[in-house]
Amino acid sequence: MSDVDVTYDVVVVGGGPTGLSAAIALAQTGVGTALIARRAPYADNRTTALLGGSVDFLRGLDVWRGCQDKAAELRVMRLVDDTGRLIRAPEVRFSCDEIGLDVFGYNIENRLLVSALEDRAAALSNLTRFDDEAAAISPEEEIVAIRLGNGVSLSARLAVGADGRHSLCREAAGIGVKRRVLDQAALTFNVGHSRPHRNISTEFHTPQGPCVFVPLPGDRSSVVWVSAPKEAERLIALSDEELSQAAEAQSHSILGRLKVEPGRHMFPLAIEQPHEFARARIALVGEAAHVVPPIGAQGLNMGLRDAADVANVVRAALASGEDPGASAVLDRYASARRADVVSRTFAIDVANRSLLSAFLPMQSLRAAGLHLIGSFGPLRRLAMREGLAPSWRTSRLG
Ligand SMILES: Cc1cc2nc3c(=O)[nH]c(=O)nc-3n(C[C@H](O)[C@H](O)[C@H](O)COP(=O)(O)OP(=O)(O)OC[C@H]3O[C@@H](n4cnc5c(N)ncnc54)[C@H](O)[C@@H]3O)c2cc1C
Repeated sequence: MSDVDVTYDVVVVGGGPTGLSAAIALAQTGVGTALIARRAPYADNRTTALLGGSVDFLRGLDVWRGCQDKAAELRVMRLVDDTGRLIRAPEVRFSCDEIGLDVFGYNIENRLLVSALEDRAAALSNLTRFDDEAAAISPEEEIVAIRLGNGVSLSARLAVGADGRHSLCREAAGIGVKRRVLDQAALTFNVGHSRPHRNISTEFHTPQGPCVFVPLPGDRSSVVWVSAPKEAERLIALSDEELSQAAEAQSHSILGRLKVEPGRHMFPLAIEQPHEFARARIALVGEAAHVVPPIGAQGLNMGLRDAADVANVVRAALASGEDPGASAVLDRYASARRADVVSRTFAIDVANRSLLSAFLPMQSLRAAGLHLIGSFGPLRRLAMREGLAPSWRTSRLG
């Protein structure tokens, strides 16, 4: 791979929501950026509850105005213990006005968010798109060399690995990953309902995992139903009528009659943490850098903070004449991300384990913890603020 044709400051590999956001954030501040991403329709019906600074970040990227009318406001979040166990937690209700906010965030279908990101990426003149895959990635002394599937070669001083769970960038950097496959799967689908959601998201905690109903615009909600893999397989095979009834029963009819919309997907769940966030001229973002189960809507919100941080670190490095792929710059990116990613992954893991545990003392501890959060205002407000974004984070998004 020594016959390199073009050189960029940064090349972003992967065009999911994180890669597109990182490429836009880099390019719009003048960084010469290449994006290697196949143009393809978004493949599933996941939605994202955009929390904390995520919407401000998308506003800063000039993406939000392209999709905000397709997102639903989230004002209240309810946690309901539906384990049917002897020791159950009381219902916990988080309301945005308690912490002086008009909304916690917005729920949007990923395909609509990605489409707005694609439009913005196409409008940036110093963002060069390669509609292809990276076939080989080689970190060298002064550059990273990349060969595309069609044989074209290019290089950059830094590669941003936004290439998801099976990241080629991560492998090329020699970064190992700690992976724990969970005995759970998430089924996603959308529903229409006869009663309004009133911008309330409700998470039912079952002994197999949470089942959450998150508002979409109109009388619609997205459903993420986490269960044992066998149960998820049973649910996904139901007819529309049967799944509508099953979801209505699981929701205790709080949204009235449910009618499932076309399209369902199943995601086997795992927790993944790479040993490093950056190495050998490669920085990892999004699911290349962390995979968590869909509890508390954290995954892509963390990915957007990765994108914002990598852009900020690169911009500052270039402004002071530094090589954006130098070890010192990569270290700055890694230290900007470590506490956020590690602490959230840990919290999500503990929350998930405490739900699944058949161990009575663990169930009591969980119930007591939720009781404390539900009844003690300052603790509840702290939990809400931490759920939105890390408290130590200053407004570095955008
Ligand atoms: C059921 C479910 C519900 C969720 N709900 C939420 C939520 O409410 N809030 C939240 O914040 N998060 C949520 N998440 C997490 C969120 O969906 C993910 O964090 C996010 O979609 C990951 O985006 P990404 O861009 O990092 O990865 P991906 O979307 O996987 O994108 C990676 C891209 O890289 C491309 N690629 C791979 N290899 C190459 C290569 N060699 N060359 C070029 N391109 C390549 C792939 O084709 C893909 O397009 C949820 C996850 C699940 C499973």
